[in-house]
Amino acid sequence: MTTYDRLIKALGAQGKIVRDSGTEARTSCPSCDSRNPTSLAIYRKNGKAKIVCYVSCEDTDVLDVLDLDWRDLYDERSASEPLDRPVKKHSPPKSPVERALARLLAMPDLGERLCRCIAARGGDHD
Ligand SMILES: [Zn+2]
Repeated sequence: MTTYDRLIKALGAQGKIVRDSGTEARTSCPSCDSRNPTSLAIYRKNGKAKIVCYVSCEDTDVLDVLDLDWRDLYDERSASEPLDRPVKKHSPPKSPVERALARLLAMPDLGERLCRCIAARGGDHD
């Protein structure tokens, strides 16, 4: 279902009579409760929808009334899907050097180990 269709369905669920031309839908705005049957327009546009209330509302006001949020203005995403998906983890290091480095960096006492190593070599002067 596209976001455009989803918005029209949500408006219908609010008891609104929506006149849908396929790319533009008009109804009375559920947010300001305008009686004008064309006060609210929904425009279909490249995978998203634009909501315009010609009375006074912001698109977010209209979304609130429809129990939707701004993510619902985009196709293929519903409010139930999290927007910030977990970042894909890096693949484990492959070469022996990368593995050794990863182990080294994972050590909680890395700083202390490095200091001891430098001290054992007699510091940084030659
Ligand atoms: Zn309005």
